[in-house]
Amino acid sequence: MSAATAAADVLPVVIIGGGPCGLAAAVSLRQAGIPVVVLEAGCVVNSIASYPTYISFFSTAEKLAIGMPFVVSTEKPTRRDAMAYYRAVVQHFALDVRQYEPVTRIESAGTRFVVHSAPRGLPPRATAARAVVVATGYFGTPNRLSVPGEDLPHVTHEYREGHEAFQRTALVVGGGNSAVEAALDLYRAGAHVTVVHFGPTFDKNIKPWVRPDFEGRVKDGQITLHWNTRVTAIEPDVVTVERNGVSERLAAQHVYLMTGYTPRPELLASVGVALDPVTGVPPHDPATMETPTTGVFIAGVLASGLDANKIFIENGRDHGPLIARALLERRDFTV
Ligand SMILES: Cc1cc2nc3c(=O)[nH]c(=O)nc-3n(C[C@H](O)[C@H](O)[C@H](O)COP(=O)(O)OP(=O)(O)OC[C@H]3O[C@@H](n4cnc5c(N)ncnc54)[C@H](O)[C@@H]3O)c2cc1C
Repeated sequence: MSAATAAADVLPVVIIGGGPCGLAAAVSLRQAGIPVVVLEAGCVVNSIASYPTYISFFSTAEKLAIGMPFVVSTEKPTRRDAMAYYRAVVQHFALDVRQYEPVTRIESAGTRFVVHSAPRGLPPRATAARAVVVATGYFGTPNRLSVPGEDLPHVTHEYREGHEAFQRTALVVGGGNSAVEAALDLYRAGAHVTVVHFGPTFDKNIKPWVRPDFEGRVKDGQITLHWNTRVTAIEPDVVTVERNGVSERLAAQHVYLMTGYTPRPELLASVGVALDPVTGVPPHDPATMETPTTGVFIAGVLASGLDANKIFIENGRDHGPLIARALLERRDFTV
């Protein structure tokens, strides 16, 4: 599509990312009367679909709700509850979500943007819009250890469930919630679990109801834990680690690298928005979520940069109304 695209072909807003915060923005814009299309690389709420299979949220359903009530009969919703709820949101608000259509680039073309995407099974597509909301989250890019063997088939950055490691050795790398919860789940599935973390203690913000359980399993010798320990190589059945300059080989038939994620800078960079080199936060006005490139907004956890614990669904869902208000107040933004 060229910059000379007819005005009628130009959408008011394209949202990139159909996670909970991208959907929340879509709902806010719909409620404000602004037509919007959501381009999603995977399925609706792809990140939640990739959570550990049987996990429950730490948030109550009420705090995950976007635009319509989310009611469950338990204290906290499960992953399945949330997937069903967000599907219902898409249907209820008749949101135009184009699934399996990753965006590859945003092109600035005068007063509009051309969003280039690669829909699965179809030729590349270009969609013109007067404003773009980037809500791509951060789950797409796992932090790699960059050690030999990281791409072997028994190594994963995504934890699903422990059944596969029943009566087998499992090594979990990391010191955050994901590592602790994976270790407990693996232990309960009958795996022989070792956890290693390069730091001297847990990351901050371990769920307070999970930590005592994990510490109890370590104290009782049911889970082996090594702090200040770095993985240096992974082989089938063995992981080599280094602690205080001493190398050690640990049995590990399954390796779970729970080392976090980093937001991808490419899309924003394509419209001249560079992430802060230290915090990873894209520059933006917190009152409107607009970046220094007029018409380019961000929403969701992407706005918290490298510290994904600052913004999550509970508060990232609030970005949509800010964006809708900012666009409605703009005199040159007619729908
Ligand atoms: C196990 C676990 C439990 C959690 N529990 C809670 C909780 O209880 N409460 C809470 O508030 N938060 C919780 N979180 C955090 C929460 O999942 C995130 O904060 C939330 O998913 C962020 O939403 P988002 O829409 O900003 O980003 P995401 O959910 O990451 O959505 C981004 C979307 O963008 C898509 N995308 C990426 N790149 C492209 C591209 N180039 N083109 C098109 N689409 C693209 C992705 O496929 C994805 O669907 C939990 C996280 C985990 C891992």
